[in-house]
Parts: sequence; C-alpha cells; structure tokens
Amino acid sequence: MSYLPKGLPAPVPENDGLDQPYWEGTRRGELLVQRCNKCGTFQWGPEWICHKCLGFDLGWHKVSGRGRIYSWERPWHPVHPALKDHGPYVVVLVELPDAGNVRMLGNLLGDPRQEVKIGAEVEAVFEPHDDAKPPFTLVQWKLAFPR
Ligand SMILES: [Zn+2]
Repeated sequence: MSYLPKGLPAPVPENDGLDQPYWEGTRRGELLVQRCNKCGTFQWGPEWICHKCLGFDLGWHKVSGRGRIYSWERPWHPVHPALKDHGPYVVVLVELPDAGNVRMLGNLLGDPRQEVKIGAEVEAVFEPHDDAKPPFTLVQWKLAFPR
C-alpha cells in the first residue's frame, strides 16, 4: 500500500551512481547514510567529497532508522496533478542522532491532520513498490511512540 496516491513520479537513483547504495539499501529494508571513511563524518544527501575533510573516500553506514522530528509541514495545495483530490499530508525533516544528526526528508504516516511535535521520535518504514519499473522502496516515517 502506498501512502500517497498513484501517479507521482517514481524516484530513481541518479545516473552517476552516487546514491545507488542508498536505494539498494532501502530494497533490503536498511537505511544507509553516507559516511567518510577517513574522518568518520556523516553527510546527507550524498556527495562525491567529504564536507569536513575534503576527502574522496566515502562509504555507506547502516543506521538504526530511528530519529526525531526536526521540522515539519502540512502541504494542502496539490503540488502534482496526482495529489489533486488527496487533501493534506505531512512532510517531516527527520534528524538522525546515530548518524551525526544528518536530516532526511520524508512523509509522516498516519492521520494527515494529526498534531505534530518537534522532537517526537520516529522510525523509518520501508514502503516497497515492487511493480514499478524499476522497483524501488520509499522510506516513510512513523511515530515511534504514537499516543
Ligand atoms: Zn572526511
């Protein structure tokens, strides 16, 4: 099942292969974040160069998939024709404490009109789209301790 309606553009890895490990990880139900092999700094999104030490030796590190809401918004205006009759949804910016507090964007699952609290703990949910060509898995977020 998909959180948002069908018809939205499907995400695909960049042609240069930079984010390929991330997308392969999501297919296995793993959340991977880029980390510098030289200085250990995490960064997101993926880059060819480490922002801290300017090294080119970057790797990927599996993280827990637990984070906290750093910021959020509730879009009401349909930004794509597929969202025309869909109503609001919640977009969260999630901070990952076990990955140097890098922040990832995603949807917050559940009632789209729910009260959202900054700092609330969330966990990654892997939403596979096996019928897509090519297949992909979206990372969504849900409250770790729903009330
Ligand atoms: Zn580095």
